[in-house]
Amino acid sequence: MPDLFLPPGVRYTCLCCGLCCRSLEVTLTEAERERLSATGGTPVPPRTGSTGGAPPGSGGTGILPVSERLFARLRGARGKQAWRLRPRPDGSCPFLTDDNLCRVHAKLGYAAKPFAGRVFPFQFVVTPVGVFVGCRFDCPAVVRGEGEELGKQRGDIRRLYDEYARTYDPPTEEEPVRFFGRYKLSWRDLLRIEDQLTAFLLMTDLDMPRRLLAGVRLVRQFVGLAVGKCEDAHVGADPNAILASVRGPASSGKAPVASNGHPACRPQPGRLRLLERLLLRLAIAAFVGATPHYYRELPFLRRLGTRLGNLWRRLKMALGVGRVRLPGIERPVRLRDVALVVAASVPLADRNRDGCGRAEALDDASAAMLQRYFVAKVASQQFFGRACFGRSFAQGFESLAMAYAAILWLASAHASDRGHRPEESAPPGRNASASETRTPSLAACDIEYGIRQVDHGYNYLGEMGGVFGRARAALLWHWGTAEKALIGLCGHL
Ligand code: SF4
Ligand code: SF4
Repeated sequence: MPDLFLPPGVRYTCLCCGLCCRSLEVTLTEAERERLSATGGTPVPPRTGSTGGAPPGSGGTGILPVSERLFARLRGARGKQAWRLRPRPDGSCPFLTDDNLCRVHAKLGYAAKPFAGRVFPFQFVVTPVGVFVGCRFDCPAVVRGEGEELGKQRGDIRRLYDEYARTYDPPTEEEPVRFFGRYKLSWRDLLRIEDQLTAFLLMTDLDMPRRLLAGVRLVRQFVGLAVGKCEDAHVGADPNAILASVRGPASSGKAPVASNGHPACRPQPGRLRLLERLLLRLAIAAFVGATPHYYRELPFLRRLGTRLGNLWRRLKMALGVGRVRLPGIERPVRLRDVALVVAASVPLADRNRDGCGRAEALDDASAAMLQRYFVAKVASQQFFGRACFGRSFAQGFESLAMAYAAILWLASAHASDRGHRPEESAPPGRNASASETRTPSLAACDIEYGIRQVDHGYNYLGEMGGVFGRARAALLWHWGTAEKALIGLCGHL
């Protein structure tokens, strides 16, 4: 029986909000489809060589309103997950009731629900050293840290994993792991690097951009050693020097990276170039600009409209002009307002003369949410490998670090929608000068919105792993954009 590793600090008890049943593509195995079919009023067409399901021509039991129209073949089927439930036009599961309850659960009991619905929000990464449990942070209970500690639910999670292994027969991650390019590391070495990353992420005397920047520099240092064909890649990385570099004035931009001249491990002290800015904004837009999971159910003209709308939204976000509609926000958001809130939320140099300290713009609840998110993502191995579009460890961590910028942007969009705009403290009748302009703090609900959107996109939107998504990630890595963006977000370290 493999060891089960739980992410630290994560809590979860279902709030019965029904959000997952509105945003989840419910996948089914052949056996689940047949079982559900048998509960409907429609005969189940026999599968070749199958004896399951209701006898052909006999009709189902009629307990649930199920017809064959409800099931669709899954495109790009993953292992045993061969079918999906066709959602309603608004994207919700056909079994969701008006009071956010599951009709299958109500009529047939918990065990009859499709496994994809029961296992949410848990995910499993199966490795040669054990099974790492991850949680989807698009679940409100998980992102807020509401409910029981995962440690106290170990038995239930173990049972879910056993069923997961039986139902899907999941593949195991490789040993050794692709660390960067063609360079590989054993899981043992990788977990040692992760311990240091987690230690950085838990440094509460630093704000989150600095903690992530330290992680990015550590990983690049290992890349430098690996590319330099150093046999033992963990020798030479110096966490103390890295910490000193993120605490010090960033204007120097000096990274203690063991550079051997390879472009992948050069220090990145510079500012973001125009093209980098555009690509970074496009990366942020990808988190909210994807086609919805019920896209295929829409009539042709609405599909076309959705596609064109997405392209238009991305273009506006890349250029930072106009208004865009964002998921879960009713009114179109003015991009200029978002930029103001982002700027206001970054600790400015004149508020941070000593070059270190926490970002005062975020309250404790927001800081805790961010810490929980990044620590859990690292601890559950959800940022590289099969769990994340086959990215290498190094590129995956850098993409994860860049997700901070996306969270901040989306949180700012949410805040601007709530009317949180910079208040001016100038006396009436006179425009405020830049130094007089007060800046709003992002509230916890804004950060929650940002994390939920980003996490939904980070692991689960297919286009993140598409050709353009990969090319974008590779370019941003090559330019060291994550490091530059984090330096900017540190408020000019
Ligand atoms: S989104 Fe999370 S809290 Fe809401 S119903 Fe689903 S599992 Fe429960
Ligand atoms: S089957 Fe039930 S639990 Fe699963 S998504 Fe549908 S309503 Fe939610």
